[in-house]
Amino acid sequence: MAATAASVAQELRQVPEQLPGAARAGGLAPLPLASLPKAAAGGATTPMDLGASWMLQLGKANGARFGARAMSQARTDNAADVEVLPACDAMRAWRRSPARTGRVALVPTMGNLHEGHLELVDEARRQADEVLVSIFVNPSQFAPHEDLDRYPRTFQRDLELLRSRGAAAVFAPTPDDMYPGGSPGGVVVTPSFVEGKNEAACRPFHFSGVATVCLKLFNLCRPDVAIFGQKDAMQCVVISRMLEDLMLDSQVSLVIAPTSRESDGLARSSRNAYLTPGMRSRAPAIYAALTGATQAVGATPGSVRKTVREQLEAVGMEVNYISVADRRDMSEKADGEGLADSVVSVACLLEEDGKQCRLIDNVLIPRTV
Ligand code: AMP
Repeated sequence: MAATAASVAQELRQVPEQLPGAARAGGLAPLPLASLPKAAAGGATTPMDLGASWMLQLGKANGARFGARAMSQARTDNAADVEVLPACDAMRAWRRSPARTGRVALVPTMGNLHEGHLELVDEARRQADEVLVSIFVNPSQFAPHEDLDRYPRTFQRDLELLRSRGAAAVFAPTPDDMYPGGSPGGVVVTPSFVEGKNEAACRPFHFSGVATVCLKLFNLCRPDVAIFGQKDAMQCVVISRMLEDLMLDSQVSLVIAPTSRESDGLARSSRNAYLTPGMRSRAPAIYAALTGATQAVGATPGSVRKTVREQLEAVGMEVNYISVADRRDMSEKADGEGLADSVVSVACLLEEDGKQCRLIDNVLIPRTV
């Protein structure tokens, strides 16, 4: 069932860009470093002292390990072919193969890959012997009014990018493979602890869809380590907590890689493709507002919420929320509390010429500021 990128090229042309779906994740839940399984034993990632430089946005939060960005990109000079696993049976067979003797890292994605995704692959290569990337646009994490149908599907291009970055295999199931009885399925994971909080308040069923598909992926792919991006902060919290509460944390290590940004600070995202030139020119205001407000002398959760809102509204953005939350459970901090050990996240809408794009971003505040 498994095939190489070259050998399936023809086949993929016949099953064009409808193949994938994806997974998301993220999570924070207190785990002592000692309890982190094989990734810690391998020593591939140095735990960051968040107090050293929170601007690096690296660290360990709620038990998740935040990967240190390497000084150089992973090598690209030994790019081999990448195996395509188009269905669950092929995925299971690949994982069970006697050839799989080393550690496997999983990078769950929804495809339409950008440099941010590829940096997760780089981190995965540092964490494991083989990197498996899933590409699946997961229907159960999209609300009916959201962009499931128009979400960009660019499988052939994704495959080439993954090959050049040294991924070993790509798991690209169809929705029917992942949800034989239809989406969302009769049994789902409900991360109730985030209900009503920032991103989960805006997207009430999203994190159940995310957690459920990630659990399915973990069961199918059996990774030793899973790599997620800090870009989706609440996702990180949810996955970490799911691993811990469902007692998978001894089997799957969670590594969270820092947010990858364009040179002007805009967080890379597949949805940046929706930005018109006018929206794109305003978008860097998000990260500028987050960094400016959180670095201001005497900043508090109250001052950060006020300042960020003012700055984003001043450039015509509609703010969904500005959250200054505890990194362990995403509960909002009181206005007058300290900023330490929080995640400051924002979601806002940009509009132009009848087009709309919703962007999210966040920064981590270390334990000591
Ligand atoms: P997605 O394809 O959007 O579901 O994302 C797949 C994974 O890539 C998730 O773990 C995201 O958090 C991560 N990711 C997306 N954008 C970025 C970025 N700019 N920097 C780091 N990770 C990212």
